[in-house]
Amino acid sequence: MLRQAKPFKTTLAALAAVAALLVCQPSRAAEEFEQHGVHEHGHVVLNVALEGDTLALEWSAPADQVLGFEHAPRTAAERERLAAATQWITRGTDVLGLPPAAGCRVQNVAHTPPALQNSAHADYRARHVFVCAKPEALAWVEPWLLRKLQDVEHVEVNIVAPGVQRQNTVRRADERIALR
Ligand SMILES: [Zn+2]
Repeated sequence: MLRQAKPFKTTLAALAAVAALLVCQPSRAAEEFEQHGVHEHGHVVLNVALEGDTLALEWSAPADQVLGFEHAPRTAAERERLAAATQWITRGTDVLGLPPAAGCRVQNVAHTPPALQNSAHADYRARHVFVCAKPEALAWVEPWLLRKLQDVEHVEVNIVAPGVQRQNTVRRADERIALR
């Protein structure tokens, strides 16, 4: 009897949860879409823009890809992962591989850690700006930040550079993305 009763209870709980989602979710989903675009686990977007001597990388990824979880941290290990992510993103030196001859350095990083809650999805978004002494040597970039991410299934790369406007996908952190 107990074996039969338990799944039944679970089903009722699941139905209640679905009903709650149906009531609450559509407006929230629409709102998030308007504000931030689509949140899709495994999906990372990189926007690379080169103008003059300034190279900007803007990227977004679900917190699941950056931290391995999307809830407010519950354990010391999760708090450490969160702090480590903030550290490498803010430092900005290993998000992008650049031709050494271009002489680029991190000029500015804009990053606000996502507000992690237990009931919602969360995205990381950051903007890294590099200034390069010899921008003419910037033939490519490598998406090094992929080394820091996990369970990535699809990486969309949008490139805007002089005479170039292109959309690519990449798979590996050492894959060169042409800027020409
Ligand atoms: Zn999510």
